Amino acid sequence: MWRGGTAAWGLLRGGGAGSPRAASGTAAAVHLRQRLEKELEDIRGAGTWKNERVIASRQGPHLRLAGGGAGILNFCANNYLGLSSHPEVIRAAVEALEKFGAGLSSVRFICGTQSIHKDLEEKIARFHQREDAILYASCFDANAGIFEALLTPEDAVLSDELNHASIIDGIRLCKANKYRYKHMDMQDLEAKLQEAQKHRLRLVATDGAFSMDGDIAPLREICQLAQKYDALVFIDECHATGFLGPNGRGTDELLGVMDKVTIINSTLGKALGGAAGGYTTGPKPLIDLLRQRSRPYLFSNSLPPAVVGCASKALDLLMESNAIAQSMAAKTQRFRSKMTAAGFTISGKDHPICPVMLGDARLAAVMAEDMLNRGIYVIGFSYPVVPKGKARIRVQISAVHSDEDIDRCVEAFTEVGRKHGALP
Ligand code: PLP
Repeated sequence: MWRGGTAAWGLLRGGGAGSPRAASGTAAAVHLRQRLEKELEDIRGAGTWKNERVIASRQGPHLRLAGGGAGILNFCANNYLGLSSHPEVIRAAVEALEKFGAGLSSVRFICGTQSIHKDLEEKIARFHQREDAILYASCFDANAGIFEALLTPEDAVLSDELNHASIIDGIRLCKANKYRYKHMDMQDLEAKLQEAQKHRLRLVATDGAFSMDGDIAPLREICQLAQKYDALVFIDECHATGFLGPNGRGTDELLGVMDKVTIINSTLGKALGGAAGGYTTGPKPLIDLLRQRSRPYLFSNSLPPAVVGCASKALDLLMESNAIAQSMAAKTQRFRSKMTAAGFTISGKDHPICPVMLGDARLAAVMAEDMLNRGIYVIGFSYPVVPKGKARIRVQISAVHSDEDIDRCVEAFTEVGRKHGALP
């Protein structure tokens, strides 16, 4: 029971910073406002403004949008396994909230570690068949924290040029020697590994699956090169954990290299319940070092119990049976083959990220809008998110889409594609 009393509540409410206009009238604040307004105008002018659609229901294959739109078919969440609104996942969150409270008000090493955090770390390590794991508030944080803690100016990191922004930022923060190899180009990686022989340690860093193209890193070849040139392999498995491979362990399981990849970073905010959170899993001394040195871990609040409860239940469901992970593959195959038969080009292979390649940015935008008019929620991506001339609509399949949902999406694409000249 809360014992603060209503007087304390009143103090909290009364102590705000005043009206929203407070401190907005100084000369510096006026200059800042003008500069920001100009910058915002430039973004609008460049046609790269990102609108946020407001959802008025739970995340799932069928959505209700704020201000109307019910029964919208959703094809743009990373809710790969449909666990974001799974009743057992929600129940586990409520139970964790009841038992362990809203949050820790502390970082882990001061007084922010509960038994559920330790249990979840143990479960993550078991799921990936690694020695240990460490939780972060997000995978962005896990990527921001690992390179700086692990690599020194004596070392080298070799990074795929299309790696996720958080890997790029994490690498920027470290003092190691940096090499960028061409996307999934093994010749270029080999050349860079040869150049990097002069350093103490080499770490090859790649996304397991790339989120803009739906392509999967050639991990077998990467691991062979790593072995040849005495390098470690790091993979970001945000778009693989839970559903790639026979048991959903990820890209390393899919490609048979679980014993060759040393470090995995991944998210709890996509397939594993979708709440939030990230982690690193790998050798115990590495995890121990991250607990001592990794700045986003040391200087940020612990994951809230409800969030921990969601992820923990999602992992239980996945470890009980591989049926959910496997259902994903059949749905993906249905969408990819039907769209290809209809005449579309779908980038990538065997991944639920299915980018419908259109080339022209305007075409991608108007087609995505027209798909929504037909009740299908998909998003168009254009430069600078993807290279110029490679605009696309990214479709993401979820295990909880029915065959009818997928067929409806393909039919709508076919109609809209014909209308706008993307199909003959
Ligand atoms: N890495 C990749 C490849 C991602 O796609 C994302 C999320 O978009 C992240 C890292 C960051 O994950 P999180 O949302 O847990 O911060």
